[in-house]
Order: sequence, then structure tokens, then C-alpha cells
Amino acid sequence: MSTVEANVEITQDAVLAHGAELTAAREAQVGGMTVRRLLPLRMRRSVGAWCFVDHYGPESVDGVAGMQVPPHPHIGLQTVTWLLTGNVLHRDSLGSEQLIRPGQLNLMTAGRGIAHAEESPAEHDPFLHGVQLWVALPDADRQVAPAFEHHSDLPHTALGGFSVTVFMGELAGERSPATAFTPIVGSELTAIGPSRTDVPLHPDFEHVLFVAAGSAQVDGTQLGPGQLLYLGTSRERAAVVAANGSRLFLLGGVPLGEPLLMWWNFVARTPEEITAATADWSAGRFGDVGGYQGDPLPAPPLDAARLRRPGR
Ligand code: MN
Repeated sequence: MSTVEANVEITQDAVLAHGAELTAAREAQVGGMTVRRLLPLRMRRSVGAWCFVDHYGPESVDGVAGMQVPPHPHIGLQTVTWLLTGNVLHRDSLGSEQLIRPGQLNLMTAGRGIAHAEESPAEHDPFLHGVQLWVALPDADRQVAPAFEHHSDLPHTALGGFSVTVFMGELAGERSPATAFTPIVGSELTAIGPSRTDVPLHPDFEHVLFVAAGSAQVDGTQLGPGQLLYLGTSRERAAVVAANGSRLFLLGGVPLGEPLLMWWNFVARTPEEITAATADWSAGRFGDVGGYQGDPLPAPPLDAARLRRPGR
């Protein structure tokens, strides 16, 4: 998906809870959907390399257009599309065309530049529920060639009543085949009946957990949809308890240690890169996304004052 807002930061302050940080999402409008934006935070641009987390739905799209995100560009990141319910059609400037369903991963590596569109197909399922995640590319890999991957056979495991799917990186001995450029984990946990487990964590990783459906307790902190719990490094486990049917996400990785400059759909390091990418998009240099009925998204006006903020 895309953000239509130039400035994507959340402004809420973190609340300390048992040494962790609990923050609330803010709502944003993306492609006809209301999303709960959980990352980035003003004081936390990334968790591992995860730098953007939107959670949307479940929402009825029965008899309406549903998700309609027109063609737009990305640089410097991977988009991770993951559905809990429904279906979405992806098209990009490489010529990829891929329908995605729950349990499958669409992974688009923007590298030096790609454009894509995402929409509910003309004949679509009646409900839509999912997450749109971005992974920042480390400086050494930011200029890789753009690429698109679809994975329909991802590793699963069971942990204390949870059914666990690993869609990025590694968790509990299971490794996703998806291309990653940094040590990372992205996983969905579904409670099959009342569930309780100690999720094994990599001590070098920082993590966030959030609930997409139902409710859960993580180390005694109650979580519902629209809340993000951050856990710092040097942890070996997180105690997770959830009611039947609850669905949680665990994202983490080695702290990126690189200051990110995020503007619109670009992840960069300097204002000059943002300015150049905006000019390239306006001049049509990202390539065409075939098949989408409608105009591409225009870039928002550049805000030089915000673009120059150093080190934030
Ligand atoms: Mn996008």
C-alpha cells in the first residue's frame, strides 16, 4: 500500500510498562481504507529494519470498490503485504501481477526504485483485513535492483497453542524463504483455543508485538488492536497469553543503527535523495504500472523545513 501523507510519524508519547514501551496507533486514510498506523514513531523510526506498520480492517468491502491504491513509487525499502482476510491484487512496474490471499506473502524490494498499485480485484471477497509493513534496506543494499516475490509456501510451527507462520526471517527454528537484507523476524501467531507460550526471542533483536484481532497479554501487559508494545534487546523470551482466535504479530531485528529519512513512500538518508526521487516520479522515470484504471498518485509538495531535520 501507500501513504498519501507526506509526514508519516506518530506523535503519541510512549508509556512505560514493565520496562517496555506501549504506544497507541493513530488513524490515517489510505486507498479508501482507515488504517491504524503503529510505526514509525517520532522517537523510534525503526524496530530492527521494520520502519512502517499499518493495520487495517476487518472491514466490509462487499459491493464497493474496496482497496484502491493507485500507482505510486518506492525507494530504499521492501513492502511486505500480509492479509488476514480477503484478497488484493498487486501490479508493479516490473510487469508483476499477483493476487494475494491470507497466509501468503507479497514482498516487493524497491531498491533504487519501483512503482506499484494495489487494489481489491473487481470480483473480491466481502471482507478485507491485513497489514502493510515496510522494511528499510540497509545503506549497503539500498541501490539493489527492484524485485518482486510471492511466497505461498511459508514455514509454520506450533508454540503453546499458537499456530505460528514465519513470513520474514527466522523464529523458533523456522526460516522464511523471503529475501531479507538484515537479521529480522516477521511472524503471525494465531491462538487455536486459549493459548500461552514463551516466544523465544533473539537477544540481539529488538521487537514489537501487536494484536490484529482479539486480545492478548504480553509479559502481563494487556494488548488490543491499535496498540504497539516495544521490547528492547537482550531478551530471550516474551510470555504471551491470548484468547481463542486472537491474532498477533511479532516483528523484530537487529537495531538498524542508521538514521532514516522517510518522506511519502520513500525511505532515504538525505533530503537530496527525496528531492531527486520526487522529481523522477513526477517525470515518469519509475516506469509504468499496467492495468490500473485511474491516475497515478501525485507526490505531495516537498516541505524543505521538515526534510532538513537532522538526526530525527
Ligand atoms: Mn506502496
